[in-house]
Amino acid sequence: MNSVNDPLATMDPALLQRLGIDDAKLTAAAQLMEQIRAASNEPSVEETEVERSASDTTAALRAEVKRLRRENQLLVYQADTLADALGACHCFGTDPQCPDCQGDGGPGSFIPGRRNFRNFVIPVLEALRDLRNARAARKAATSEETTASDQAD
Ligand SMILES: [Zn+2]
Repeated sequence: MNSVNDPLATMDPALLQRLGIDDAKLTAAAQLMEQIRAASNEPSVEETEVERSASDTTAALRAEVKRLRRENQLLVYQADTLADALGACHCFGTDPQCPDCQGDGGPGSFIPGRRNFRNFVIPVLEALRDLRNARAARKAATSEETTASDQAD
């Protein structure tokens, strides 16, 4: 037992003698109190494992919350960007309780944002135009072959 934790070390031996306190009994009592204190402060193996498990769970949950917040921010940003590109309310007109459109803000309800329209809608329109032109060209080629074979007969 070191002198900092030894209650006898802080007591005046003369005072102890005047009070009639037996030094040996007091030392034994102090040692017992120190053992009880140490035992009560020392976590059991089970408590340590439970605390570690709880700590791991808390850390995992914090990491998951952080990941979900980032994902949510990205999704909200993408949804807002797409709604702007389509000239729709942020709720896409699907929420009758929406404070901004009361459910009437579907695509085409507003003037689309120029940059988002150019980035997200124009490429789709161009792809559809190219697909339509390719089909028309195939149909024309098929029609010419049919006409040519009809004339050959
Ligand atoms: Zn809305």
